[in-house]
Amino acid sequence: MSIKENLNTIQKTIPKGITLVAVSKTKPATAIQEAYNAGQRVFGENRIHEMAKKYEALPKDIEWHMIGHVQRNKVKYMAHFVTLIHAVDNLKLLEEINKQAQKHNRIINCLLQLKIAEEDSKHGMNESELIAVLNSDKLVNYKHINIVGLMGMATFTENQQQIINEFNYLKTVFDKLNTNKTFNCNLKTISMGMSGDYESAINCGSNMVRIGSSIFGNRNYN
Ligand SMILES: *Cc1c(COP(=O)(O)O)cnc(C)c1O
Repeated sequence: MSIKENLNTIQKTIPKGITLVAVSKTKPATAIQEAYNAGQRVFGENRIHEMAKKYEALPKDIEWHMIGHVQRNKVKYMAHFVTLIHAVDNLKLLEEINKQAQKHNRIINCLLQLKIAEEDSKHGMNESELIAVLNSDKLVNYKHINIVGLMGMATFTENQQQIINEFNYLKTVFDKLNTNKTFNCNLKTISMGMSGDYESAINCGSNMVRIGSSIFGNRNYN
């Protein structure tokens, strides 16, 4: 199956109003161009330098999403073009994103990552850490960021019920927090679901899915 056919197949399973982020990490610019030619405009990468290179090489109406863990000292390499940063997991990172966005006179949209998986390896905040970020009195100073939602990654397991429980947990936290809106915080986006679990994620309330291998084929990490 071609990238175009894969995209068409997946689009048919995604209801209107749900954003498909095509996860192109490790894939060459030619593969992204192929998806672009099929109409896809939103792409997700997990390494900043790789994303910046692809940004330079590819059409400028692509929306680039950083879906991976972000180190503060690398924010500057994507601040001039990144559309959405999915995995913000501390206040100092928000402060740095704000600082770098200000340099480019931009407002950068961010999602806060909630840790929903049981493994220790997954990044993200627990619920109280997340609430602490949202309640921080420093937040009003960050005029160049906009917190637009939450992101989560389920445990890598065959146990579908566990995955569903984790997605439901994220949705519950989202609904609880969604009440206090401010000028730079308005939670609308729920980014959850990957190739193997996105249909469950959508059933649990996701409105942004991040799909890689089902579009581009398996990744080769060398
Ligand atoms: C790689 C990655 C994906 C896509 O995974 P697939 O299983 O290939 O769809 C989604 N989200 C994050 C955070 C990723 O790192």
